[in-house]
Amino acid sequence: MRPDIPSSRPDQKSYLAELREMAVGLRHYLEDEKKLGLEGWPRASMPLQANTPSGPAMGCSPSGLEDVRAGLGDCHRCKLHPYRTQIVFGTGNPQAKLVFIGEAPGRDEDLQGEPFVGQAGQLLTKIIQAIQLHREEVYIANIIKCRPPENRNPEPDEIAACEPFLIQQLQVIRPKLICALGTFAAQTLLKTEEKISSLRGKFHEYQGIPLMPTYHPAFLLRNPNRKREVWEDMKKIKKEYEKL
Ligand code: URA
Repeated sequence: MRPDIPSSRPDQKSYLAELREMAVGLRHYLEDEKKLGLEGWPRASMPLQANTPSGPAMGCSPSGLEDVRAGLGDCHRCKLHPYRTQIVFGTGNPQAKLVFIGEAPGRDEDLQGEPFVGQAGQLLTKIIQAIQLHREEVYIANIIKCRPPENRNPEPDEIAACEPFLIQQLQVIRPKLICALGTFAAQTLLKTEEKISSLRGKFHEYQGIPLMPTYHPAFLLRNPNRKREVWEDMKKIKKEYEKL
């Protein structure tokens, strides 16, 4: 939006001087950011470091998930905001070694403000428990944080607006493992159009972190015969988790 500069303001000169000062400050800030290797903000492509205390300083250096949430604010960055009841930021352990990433909030999540709380969420809770973990020990988030109308797939501009915040969350949490739930999460995170059936079952890499794609719990509710494959994937996750 253009700033409203009234031409007849008596203090117009100081207003312009203030604007100039701000522009100079912004330029210095961006130059400093560039020195740190940052080409833009928020960065969507900076590799994350694993959850090691000795990892280098993070690109956006948010001091915590609250800061990331505060940065998101009452987000109007994409066209989904008029449809949502609330932003579904993510939930769980801020120091989780394992993060699950789904697609987008559904109706229940939109109403409750928490990811995976509906039927698919209950199945996800059981999947997590099957590897002897509790929901509270892991972190759960989605590719996008607002419910798309009629639960349609998120669109590229919505992902582009939202993914930087997921990346910031991961920069804070610094998990050792990620599990991508379903076609959409796996293809979006891995920037591929490969089918989930061929992606699943092996570790890939997202922002330097090993990522295991597996079927979405909602898909499992419709196709319970595919649970065996998810169990195979979860055993691989568990095996790596135990080494941490
Ligand atoms: N499906 C998702 O992908 N995410 C949720 O939070 C709920 C259902």
